[in-house]
Amino acid sequence: MSEQKRVYRFGTDAQGNDVTEGGASMKFALGGKGANLAEMCRIGLPVPGGFTITCQTCVEYSGAGNVWPEGTLDEIDAATRDLEHRQGKSLGDPHDPLLVSVRSGAPFSMPGMMDTVLNLGLNDDSVQGLIEQTKNPHFAWDSYRRFIQMFSNVVLGIDSDYFENALTEKRMVAGVKSDSELTAEQLKELVCEFREIAAEHISADEHPELVIEGKAVFPTDPELQLKLAIEAVFGSWMNERACIYRKANGISDDLGTAVNVQVMVYGNKGETSATGVAFTRNPADGTREFYGDFLIDAQGEDVVAGIRNTEPISDLKIKPVFAQAGEQLESIFGILENHYRDMCDIEFTIEQGKLYMLQTRVGKRTASAALKIAIDMVGEGLISREEAVSRIDPAQLDQLLHPQFDTGSDIEVLARGLNASPGAAVGAIVFSSEDAVAAADEGRPVILVRWETNPDDLKGMVAAEGILTSHGGKTSHAAVIARGMGAPCVCGVESFSIDAANKEVRVDGADIVLHEGDIISIDGTSGIVVLGAVDLVSPELTGDLETILGWADTIRMDSSKGTPNRVRVNADNPADAKLALEFGAEAIGLCRTEHMFLGDRKNIIQSFILTDDEQVKAKALEDLLRVQTDDFLQMFRTMDGRDVVVRLIDPPLHEFLDDPRELEVAIAKREVEGAPADELEALRKRLRDIDGMVESNPMLGLRGVRLSIVYPDLPLMQVRAIATAAARLKRDEGLNPHPEVLVPLVAIAQEHVQTRAVIERVVAEVAEEFGIRLDIPVGTMFELPRACMVADAIAEHSDFFSFGTNDLTQTTFGFSRDDAEAKFIPIYLHKKILESNPFETIDDVVVELVKMAVDKSRATKDGLMCGVCGEHGGDPASIMKLFNVAGVDYVSCSPYRVPVARLAAAQAKLEAEQGFSTQDK
Ligand code: PEP
Ligand code: MG
Repeated sequence: MSEQKRVYRFGTDAQGNDVTEGGASMKFALGGKGANLAEMCRIGLPVPGGFTITCQTCVEYSGAGNVWPEGTLDEIDAATRDLEHRQGKSLGDPHDPLLVSVRSGAPFSMPGMMDTVLNLGLNDDSVQGLIEQTKNPHFAWDSYRRFIQMFSNVVLGIDSDYFENALTEKRMVAGVKSDSELTAEQLKELVCEFREIAAEHISADEHPELVIEGKAVFPTDPELQLKLAIEAVFGSWMNERACIYRKANGISDDLGTAVNVQVMVYGNKGETSATGVAFTRNPADGTREFYGDFLIDAQGEDVVAGIRNTEPISDLKIKPVFAQAGEQLESIFGILENHYRDMCDIEFTIEQGKLYMLQTRVGKRTASAALKIAIDMVGEGLISREEAVSRIDPAQLDQLLHPQFDTGSDIEVLARGLNASPGAAVGAIVFSSEDAVAAADEGRPVILVRWETNPDDLKGMVAAEGILTSHGGKTSHAAVIARGMGAPCVCGVESFSIDAANKEVRVDGADIVLHEGDIISIDGTSGIVVLGAVDLVSPELTGDLETILGWADTIRMDSSKGTPNRVRVNADNPADAKLALEFGAEAIGLCRTEHMFLGDRKNIIQSFILTDDEQVKAKALEDLLRVQTDDFLQMFRTMDGRDVVVRLIDPPLHEFLDDPRELEVAIAKREVEGAPADELEALRKRLRDIDGMVESNPMLGLRGVRLSIVYPDLPLMQVRAIATAAARLKRDEGLNPHPEVLVPLVAIAQEHVQTRAVIERVVAEVAEEFGIRLDIPVGTMFELPRACMVADAIAEHSDFFSFGTNDLTQTTFGFSRDDAEAKFIPIYLHKKILESNPFETIDDVVVELVKMAVDKSRATKDGLMCGVCGEHGGDPASIMKLFNVAGVDYVSCSPYRVPVARLAAAQAKLEAEQGFSTQDK
């Protein structure tokens, strides 16, 4: 036997006693599906029995090149015998066969990405047993032919089209429209044909175990079927679409999938049987209602595949044959919600009137549904406010900040479908995922228009701005995946007759044919489709989002539980500042002033840099002083009473100059045109001057505080503009401006000391000029490891620290922030040299540097304010580390990330203080 337990059973024994070994807490061993099947058994819900093979087994099996860990097959064999014993049936029995499903189930839900085999155990003998038990030859032969098709496709890698073609031909010969109209005899014939098709296409090299007397045959031994099916499910962990899905959803490749072997129950045993998918609340908008669909006389996959049109779950109880099962299902909804204290998503089957639960998990939901459900559950007394806040995925809030149709625009509805995933999108129609990917690579926004998506469409769905399907319900593949990705999606647009081969859509009722490349707009919030481009608007923070963020603010700002986790914004214009205030920012954590040198100011800064004439220089500075004073007046007015951290000019000066290559071309052109010699000489001098400013490594060159040391006129002008704007507002408008000056890229304490002296002198001069007291703190920007090492010395001369973690990441790794992400970080991620992109989620060593500097600063000056203004300030995972490990006081991020940061800051506080964990993926 293997050392670790690899197989866990669930369900009851022959006497009806629960013999379940796992539970909900074991999802990393049993996968989400296996853990929750076990949990449902424990709470007495009707679950068909079975066993789960652990994720670790999958990891070891794949890691060893598809070799079973020692003893595992024996353990599976024992579990199979045990299951047979518990059910009183055996695999392959010609009188009463045990039939099982073999399903994948990873620790995090990956809907439709991996493989499943149903009806396993059927062969020419056991099909007779199934007929004997069900007295329904039609059902038995239909199950058998489905099994051969599914097994052939999933396990043997044979294209389903071969079987579909044979099925279509059989229907044509029989003169019937649907499969269900075929007789049992015809289905039996199909089984023979299917086995021949399979035999013809089995690869003898890949499946030598299926070769008998030199010829490959479809496996009839149920034990062999089971072993091959489990191997195939393990193998599906690494299939292309599963890998893409994991990458898109940040799920580790190292987790593996569990395999669940479970007794089959049938939703396709006639008019008293059904199968369905449901949510205990509406996953699109959070309304407290039973939500989902069912299909009568169908197997589970039919519902998700969107192949037949489903009926709403609310109709289940109304149908007399399902009344009892419907009542029971509703009471189970309640049991599950109370048990999991969350909205659950379930799959069920009704076999001849009897209800079975096949799956449950905490249900995926849109961001707006997540907010409503969390708030409602607080109202219902099911969870606390802290739990509500901890449950919202901060990254998901982005969905709510997605654009919507501008209600002011004149919209003519072309078609309507189901509002499957919220948000609006505009793009050109494409009909295939390949075309969507190709368009995205060229930066063209597209809407992927499909009859229905399948898991292979994932690439296209990720690439497209939005998704439209003409078929399928709100639990169809397209709807589920789009909601998870936060992509707008309209499903079931029935008036769209799509001809993907010819790349056109006929829109019934509108007498229009759309072609590839035509622009449409879709609104996944309302289910509307519009011809042409509709103006989009960003939503405001209202309602549920405001409630949750209000609770988040109370949590993160509660000073009775340690220092508050504050959120500021990076903004360098009044419009962004205003937006950020609406989004709940407390202050400006970083105002990058270089943008104030661009646009119509570029000429002025150029004349300053390129002239040797002191008068011209002085005039340029005067002009800059005037316009920048105006800029600061507006900013400080908008942010009245709040801190505004203004960073002195940071980038290398050549960024403000013409591109020398373009200038060379211009000179050559003027030469050919015969321009006068003095003009040409002036141009050539300009080129020489610009060339003279070019550096080999500008990011390590004359920038940041070094500019202030070498060209003190520039920071002097900036500080004068800041101080003058503040003085005017204070003296003339009675306002309360709070500018603070930030010195960038400091490495050496002396750099800060000397720059500070200049700043203080200018502030004092302006204060005297205006006859008022001006108090403008001066802080240091930490972007270099050396600065972190000497933070205690710098702190003596600094009023606050701000960590520029973009540059700090660049200089810690020695990775160019301008090039690394395009050139090699993707390769590093692929090769698992890095777990995540350090420019997106802060690296632990960079966190260590920040922590060291924070600790050193506070050893020098107790309570010195420390914040982070790099992009990491808007990334939830980084926010958690920055507050809880590095111990900073605030994060500062772009305006649209402010709500995300407020929530993440509250969750950091909860995690630090109460051990609440944020929601699972
Ligand atoms: C930083 O380096 O983190 C920072 C905020 O400055 P910038 O991105 O402007 O270099
Ligand atoms: Mg920087």
